[in-house]
Amino acid sequence: MMRIGILALQGAFAEHETMLHRLGAECFEIRQKRDLALPMDGLILPGGESTVMGKLLSALDCLTWLRTYIQQGLPVYGTCAGLLLLAKHVQGGAVQLGTMDITAARNAYGRQLGSFSTTAPMEGVGDVPMIFIRAPYIQATWGEAQALATVDGRIVAARQGNQLVTAFHPELTEDTRVHRLFLEMVQKAN
Ligand code: GLN
Repeated sequence: MMRIGILALQGAFAEHETMLHRLGAECFEIRQKRDLALPMDGLILPGGESTVMGKLLSALDCLTWLRTYIQQGLPVYGTCAGLLLLAKHVQGGAVQLGTMDITAARNAYGRQLGSFSTTAPMEGVGDVPMIFIRAPYIQATWGEAQALATVDGRIVAARQGNQLVTAFHPELTEDTRVHRLFLEMVQKAN
């Protein structure tokens, strides 16, 4: 059975747990450095506040470890703030893990426009309901990163090898397909 670590310092991690349980995957919460020593087939970085998460990760001495795991190929799925943690360039915020060839624009829709819902096609998934909450978007992808979905001309999902990001929150919907895509990535990686 697959074991997914979910970063649980702050933000919307419980909803990811529910989603993974629905799909039959096992998961555990990462709250401190010693949790990183547990066997882990994949990692989820949830939505929340990327600045706060980044500060906590570095205070707990987890930032460097997580970066190394991801660079070594640990499959990771970042939603919203999680996307910001993975971006190599961040407009309006600091670079944290910086493992993915994307430029992310933080709080770039403005306060109201960053929160909305819509349905749009995502490559490899089909039409998905997308909930955005003070969301970032991806201004550019380069190198190995590939855009998987756009809304109003802005990139809102991307993949680079074992790294998957969405600016929206599938864990706040009933639709399990994005998480299923991530679990397929995990399965192929192991
Ligand atoms: N605005 C948040 C940030 O900058 C992201 C919002 C979210 O994760 N829902 O980290």
